[in-house]
Amino acid sequence: MKTGAYLCGGIMHPPMKAIIIGAGIGGLTTAIALQQQGIDYDIYEAAPECRAVGAGIMLGGNAMTVYERLGVGEAIRRVSIFPENIFVSNYKGKVLQQVSNAYIRQRYGQGAHLLHRATLQQELLQAAQQPVRWGKRFERLEHHPHGVVAYFEDGSTATADLLIGADGIRSTVREKYVAPATYRYSGQTCWRAIIPMTLTPEEQKNATEVWGNGNGLRASYMQVDGDRVYFWFTKKMPAGQAFTGEAAIAFMKKELAHFSERTQEVVAAITPDMLLHADLYDFKPIDAWYKDKVVLLGDACHATTPNLGQGASQAIEDALMLARCLKQEKTITDAFKKYQDSRMARVHKVVGMSWRLAQVTNWKGALATGLRDMIVRMIPHRITQQQMEFLYHLKW
Ligand SMILES: Cc1cc2nc3c(=O)[nH]c(=O)nc-3n(C[C@H](O)[C@H](O)[C@H](O)COP(=O)(O)OP(=O)(O)OC[C@H]3O[C@@H](n4cnc5c(N)ncnc54)[C@H](O)[C@@H]3O)c2cc1C
Repeated sequence: MKTGAYLCGGIMHPPMKAIIIGAGIGGLTTAIALQQQGIDYDIYEAAPECRAVGAGIMLGGNAMTVYERLGVGEAIRRVSIFPENIFVSNYKGKVLQQVSNAYIRQRYGQGAHLLHRATLQQELLQAAQQPVRWGKRFERLEHHPHGVVAYFEDGSTATADLLIGADGIRSTVREKYVAPATYRYSGQTCWRAIIPMTLTPEEQKNATEVWGNGNGLRASYMQVDGDRVYFWFTKKMPAGQAFTGEAAIAFMKKELAHFSERTQEVVAAITPDMLLHADLYDFKPIDAWYKDKVVLLGDACHATTPNLGQGASQAIEDALMLARCLKQEKTITDAFKKYQDSRMARVHKVVGMSWRLAQVTNWKGALATGLRDMIVRMIPHRITQQQMEFLYHLKW
């Protein structure tokens, strides 16, 4: 894709080109957002090829609004599930919180959608005009008076006006060229699985996260398309514990023995090859997202624990904002600054909220968890409303 010089605010810009490092949700969405603004790019990914990896994902109403603006909203809605309600309940079946996703859609234009990550990746790959350059692991860069040169592990190089590090929580771009991060272990490990099964219409309508009796014990299952269910499980334990697939399934069965029979049926359908295991980390918020001609995006600058289901959604918001700033501002530095100023406070708040939620679910003992459940159940409607307004209402 070649772009001509463009006029913006009365200023003639030469054609601009960006290198995107990482073809995850953030990098691919950035590609689509840049092309919408007429900005040229190339996208480089360390994975050797496109593989259908990952489990399920919930895209918040805010992310769906961005995708609508990028022209891919309809395609994503077509391949995903829209739950009418999202519940948090305890393992005894008591509802602790209920969010009407239908109401969110009515009020803010878009509600949350559930889908397989690989399905989302396919939709984004189709919408991006430039092919991903697979098997390109970014190693280092050099600054030049008019841009950057990126060096890859295979010895190849790429040149552009700027470089966008969308290379995830363990970002090489961030660590070497912007600001090193201090990782925080949430205390929880997580297993996920995609199970070939179809839930009842009632279950599909009401996506539910179930909290156990403390120590980070939670589980959930939800339909992500016609015949696949996304299951996840968390539990407090030291990081780095090795489990075989069989041992993990046995462990989850034991932990969930006092959950509903239906939960146990779902777990019984999991086989070891379906499991993905990850210790849940974020990092302490950093206060610089760019330096010189390098800018960060998504988990690379603000990885968050998945408790609010907002990590990818915030990366998606970043992508649209960064592309707009690059188009509107006179210099790359002005664009990076405006992007950072527009995004940082909001994202830091999301990271903080998500971190605190993880810690609350880590409480242990019947007394503490009983108190926790009561507090969550009694959160005034006004507060829940404010939180929805904050998360889902994109005011820009
Ligand atoms: C258990 C779990 C559940 C989650 N659930 C949700 C959810 O429901 N909703 C939600 O919004 N978020 C969720 N998240 C968060 C979400 O997955 C992330 O926030 C999101 O994937 C971040 O996207 P990204 O593109 O910034 O990073 P990534 O998805 O990590 O992509 C980074 C890409 O960069 C590539 N890369 C890395 N290093 C290099 C290099 N040196 N050179 C080239 N390429 C490189 C990687 O291979 C990868 O493809 C969850 C996270 C976890 C752990």
